[in-house]
Amino acid sequence: MRPTNRIDHFLPVRFKNGSVVKQFSKPCVKCGQMLHARHMHGIARLLDDHLAMAATAHCPACHTQFGVACVIDNEKRVRRVVLPLFLFKLYLRTLAVHPAEAAAHEAALAEVAKQPAPAEAKPAPVDYPRADEVIGRYADKPIPAHIIVDGRTVPFDRIEADGRVNAGEYLLDGCFVYKPAQS
Ligand SMILES: [Zn+2]
Repeated sequence: MRPTNRIDHFLPVRFKNGSVVKQFSKPCVKCGQMLHARHMHGIARLLDDHLAMAATAHCPACHTQFGVACVIDNEKRVRRVVLPLFLFKLYLRTLAVHPAEAAAHEAALAEVAKQPAPAEAKPAPVDYPRADEVIGRYADKPIPAHIIVDGRTVPFDRIEADGRVNAGEYLLDGCFVYKPAQS
């Protein structure tokens, strides 16, 4: 079988409640020509009772290309996905690798679509070189007075039990925050 990512090759899709999606169409964003699944390339996956689709549509009339990211429910209602197209495609490809987990991921998808990435994030743990000098203990761990980052001494600032730091700060042992001195 010839590999293809044309959306019409994923159709028809039958939901558990018996309804079938045979065709998908969408007007061209530029000229209004009705485009069909055969004009779209990407990925479509059945997630429990939703069909998720992420594709790039190519208009045969005006040659405009545009992204299509949507979820179709088992009553054939179409919802737009607010995630950027490339992320949504990546997400669906991930599901392709682990289809058994698809249902579990579906709830996560709704969450991801709603929330942009938080500005504050938990950094990956890094074991920075640390001072021998210990200024105290917390949760049975010694608190080094400073750490060395790129040859610079960065002094201890505070403890964050949940390990959240601001931009420009460093996290050690999951809870000690080091902050460069203001110059
Ligand atoms: Zn067009």
